[in-house]
Amino acid sequence: MSYEGKMLEDFKMPTRKEVEQALLKSLFHHNGVIKEFGARENIVNEIADDFNLNEKQRNAYLETIYKKENRVKKSSLWHRLLFRAADNLAKEKLVSRPTHTFLLTKKKEWMLTEDGYDKTLKFLGIPSAQKEFLPVKSYEVQKIVKKIKSQERPELYSPFDRNKKIITITKEAKLRNRGFRQAIIEAYDFKCAVCGLKINTPNTTQWEVEAAHIVPHSSFGKDDIWNGLALCHLHHWAYDVGWFSFEDNFRVITSRKIQTLSHDYGKMWDYDFIGQLAKRGSIISLPDNKNNHPHLSAIIWHRENIFLKQSQ
Ligand SMILES: [Zn+2]
Repeated sequence: MSYEGKMLEDFKMPTRKEVEQALLKSLFHHNGVIKEFGARENIVNEIADDFNLNEKQRNAYLETIYKKENRVKKSSLWHRLLFRAADNLAKEKLVSRPTHTFLLTKKKEWMLTEDGYDKTLKFLGIPSAQKEFLPVKSYEVQKIVKKIKSQERPELYSPFDRNKKIITITKEAKLRNRGFRQAIIEAYDFKCAVCGLKINTPNTTQWEVEAAHIVPHSSFGKDDIWNGLALCHLHHWAYDVGWFSFEDNFRVITSRKIQTLSHDYGKMWDYDFIGQLAKRGSIISLPDNKNNHPHLSAIIWHRENIFLKQSQ
């Protein structure tokens, strides 16, 4: 048995497979990314806590003797085990290596890949349909987010993709949906563009806000940042059905039919979720970066094809 193997046995360290699972679980709970393991990184202790490692196990060192240089190099047994487990996950393409992730995000992090994400969901017993709603990042989705955010804003924009298949069942289409959603809600700082509502789940992992298409999928709308808006559930619904739309300067316009509604419609205590919009006639909150604002061609299409048709 190797020196390292003997040390692992002597100190009753967890097996590499167990550490691999713990790493995947940890990645899942950290939204798909954990920092490269540096000395004294929290994550190193966090996973050690998972295994209830005692002080001896945490502080065990391997000593390598460099005869030529006449020195002894000490390396943490736990740290090495952790690194070997992560390295193996990378070899199996279940995570991307920090050097590889860096090229995409400029951060040295281990990141789940789609395969790693699927495997983690399976072993945590979470249905894969949850992927649409969980905020966990994956390398493939981050690639799409980067592409959506870095495209140059065109002067003339067509929000339609005539070649698009409306039934999005392919793996690629699902990835694109998640990329679109994430790019939009990040660009709008997780707030509804109309009412400003910003709220996450009590465990802070999910956001209430949704990524709305201005030209919807059913009308061949593209998954671009210029065809999207971040809206809360209520305003997403109200926008899709044409209760409100926007002028070219993003001022909210509401359907005249609001006046015909019975007085107890659309109210939550004192809050009148459509009527208030009508009174305020306010301009929505858009991303700081103008490149990420919706394109006029999409705004006009919604006004003419959804709003005006519903409001007549
Ligand atoms: Zn809202």
